Amino acid sequence: MSEGRLSQSQKACLDAMDIPLWVRRDRPEAAPVEQAAAAEPDPGPEQATAAEPEPAAVAEPEQAAVTVPGAEPHVAQMPVADWGTLEQQVSGCTLCALHAGRTRTVFGVGNRHADWMVIGEGPGKEEDRQGEPFVGRAGKLLDSMLLAAGQPRSQVYIGNIVKCRPPNNRDPKPEEAGACRSYLMRQIELVNPKIILAVGRIAAHNLLNIDDSVGRMRGRVHSMPGTGIPVIVTYHPAYLLRTPQQKPEAWQDLVMARQVAHGADTGADDRGPP
Ligand code: SF4
Repeated sequence: MSEGRLSQSQKACLDAMDIPLWVRRDRPEAAPVEQAAAAEPDPGPEQATAAEPEPAAVAEPEQAAVTVPGAEPHVAQMPVADWGTLEQQVSGCTLCALHAGRTRTVFGVGNRHADWMVIGEGPGKEEDRQGEPFVGRAGKLLDSMLLAAGQPRSQVYIGNIVKCRPPNNRDPKPEEAGACRSYLMRQIELVNPKIILAVGRIAAHNLLNIDDSVGRMRGRVHSMPGTGIPVIVTYHPAYLLRTPQQKPEAWQDLVMARQVAHGADTGADDRGPP
């Protein structure tokens, strides 16, 4: 995506994220992801800038498929619930030990007919207090990134692998993620998004059953087992706050997500300010 195709608000968001705009050089438009994934070389660090990264997939890493304990039985027992019923089930849930320490459940927010679904690992302290995912500084950064990609927070659906806060912000245990999986699967089924953005290692691990680093999972299009929905893996905004030099890579991930969901030449650039 070249500078000239960004709206003023998107440029402002990128500026707020400290992501420099890439000034287009004389080379062809990016190929669709599916084609680029097979053939394009790694763009190299000098081209891994913010606004128009190569959509080329990284070389396919060796992946270790893992089983998430507790996941499969709950998939089999997936509740056939509408949104209201599902929300009620979650708010009273005691299926795993995390219920004991929660202030409130964090069900998920946003557009229930969204093209984009953003999934993180679980509520932190502020999310537990407010009952909403991705609030605070990390949430603001996520909002800016999504807005820059033409997907304001109100247009996407945001959820988590687990709906209750793990103590001391530790990672959810596999059995906790497994216990909560049926709720998330039903949310995905109800939203039926065009793309899922898996934010952080824990989210990607649980969605894809791949035990690998974010750096090795990002840069290509995954398919979520059982649904076939395309999944893009990216860094958690809390990590980006600590490691801002990775923001351009996160921006590449969002550009790839947009290409997959909307095609290379359509989408937010034509929508004007969000
Ligand atoms: Fe229930 Fe999920 Fe909360 Fe565990 S994390 S108690 S499974 S809603």
